[in-house]
Amino acid sequence: MNLEGFRVCLEAGHGYHDTMEYDPGAVAHGFEEHKLNVAQVEHVAKLLEAQGCAVTKVICRSSNGLALSKRGLQAAGHDLFLSFHHNAANGKAQGTEVLMHLMGTLSDAGFAASLSKRIANHLGYFDRGMKKQSLGVLRQVPKEVKAAVLVESYFMDNTALAGTDLEALSLKAADAAAEGIADYLVKNCKPRKQIIVEPKKVDIGPSEPKKVELPKMPWKK
Ligand SMILES: [Zn+2]
Repeated sequence: MNLEGFRVCLEAGHGYHDTMEYDPGAVAHGFEEHKLNVAQVEHVAKLLEAQGCAVTKVICRSSNGLALSKRGLQAAGHDLFLSFHHNAANGKAQGTEVLMHLMGTLSDAGFAASLSKRIANHLGYFDRGMKKQSLGVLRQVPKEVKAAVLVESYFMDNTALAGTDLEALSLKAADAAAEGIADYLVKNCKPRKQIIVEPKKVDIGPSEPKKVELPKMPWKK
């Protein structure tokens, strides 16, 4: 798909906060949720950028820890904001869900529901669907952003999974997420045209600095 002119902001859940404390998110089968979230952001970004989409990645490492509210603010100027997470509960639950903020819009709801369905179908898991929650990372997303959601691709603590399954499963979910994003952009958002301003003829100066003739042997002057 041609995604030129669209802008998407992708955030990897957890990691470093403004306090410089590291938050791994859920830890299951010896794997940290944050690392899987980062893998998804990188993968989705790569797939979207290959189609011409402009992508901002919010990955909070030790050098750039951010509070949740500041992460949401990074969405300014983008068409979509997605926060990537993985679920964990009691080791038995499984399925995909996509969350939106309690005070979110109809666009958030529509995008969340369609994305949840697409990821669930792709993984072969139950679609738990769209859910509303008061989420710090979504609260500060500027209103002009068409839709803002938090993706929980699957339950990483499910006992039917092994640690070695997790990354491949996350990337598989990311494939579906990228398709869902591309589909939503084309159907619901307007690409921003790139404006190339050509300088007027009179404004054009010499293309190279003027050469100044220097005396060849100034000491002989
Ligand atoms: Zn999380």
